Amino acid sequence: MKAAILQAPQAIGKRPLVIGELPMPQVTPGHVLLHVRACGVCRTDLHIVAGELPAERSPLVPGHQIVGEIAGGATAELPLGTRVGVSWLGGVDGTCPYCRRGMENLCDSPTFTGYTVDGGFAEFALARADFVFPLPGNLDDLHAAPLLCAGIIGFRSLRVAGVEKGDRVGLFGFGASAHLTIAVLRAWGCEVYVSTRGAAHREFAASLGAAWVGTQRERAPVALDRAITFAPSGDVVIAALASLRKGGVVAINAIHLDRVPEFDYDRLLWGERQIRSVTNMTRADARDFLHTASSIGLRPQATPFSLDHANEALLAIEHDSIDGAAVILPGS
Ligand SMILES: [Zn+2]
Ligand SMILES: [Zn+2]
Repeated sequence: MKAAILQAPQAIGKRPLVIGELPMPQVTPGHVLLHVRACGVCRTDLHIVAGELPAERSPLVPGHQIVGEIAGGATAELPLGTRVGVSWLGGVDGTCPYCRRGMENLCDSPTFTGYTVDGGFAEFALARADFVFPLPGNLDDLHAAPLLCAGIIGFRSLRVAGVEKGDRVGLFGFGASAHLTIAVLRAWGCEVYVSTRGAAHREFAASLGAAWVGTQRERAPVALDRAITFAPSGDVVIAALASLRKGGVVAINAIHLDRVPEFDYDRLLWGERQIRSVTNMTRADARDFLHTASSIGLRPQATPFSLDHANEALLAIEHDSIDGAAVILPGS
């Protein structure tokens, strides 16, 4: 099968993915073989490909927002041809203290799609049968793929930040995840304040119903109840913290931060403000988000790339050169 293969992590600008042939994955017990129809590109893929996350496997097929059709290992619940989604959390042990407490996102022995096992930048992929999700029928492959990590983890960020209906919520950064999150927030009657670099991203946020848009240096005109940061930057976390009311929460939706700068406790954290990280996702997050997405008619902005142009898809995210999500369509 054809795949985009990472032999060794390198800067994205060096086009680290090699488009080549790999043997077809063999179905193993408890797994399904998927014919990949689309695979979204996530910022985490950039961290993996660039070596900002430690290499777990080599060679590796990245990609963890897979829309695929069951092509092998079919069961009564998952017959041949069923369209399903796969996300970043590809499996858990089910036995560690976190799994037993219902916190499978923190599992001690997790499987991560496109990181500890091969992912979806390929014509076929293997996935654990109990970690695939049925997809809303009203979304085609291109528009379903970005929901599967950007959407689910954006949704989890709202839960971690404790967002309630009608809250004033800040989004810091406005890429694939934020543009899905704003749709959920608007459906919940929240006022959304967006700080992001790049005039095009600010226009995009305004077109999706943001109450206010500004640059990363500007402060929202009101104190925020909740803030979610998407950029891999500690400076952005501090800017978000500085915009909160007392008791407000910053949720960091980033798997990697450049650093966390020193900051003034008395002014920024005192008053029971909180900084929380958002780590992975649970299957319940996935199911609840996909249900919400379907009921509010969420339709992501997505730009398609062929498998041959997988490096270009990564570059588009790195350079913030597209609105919304980049999606690889291996059949195109
Ligand atoms: Zn576990
Ligand atoms: Zn992701």
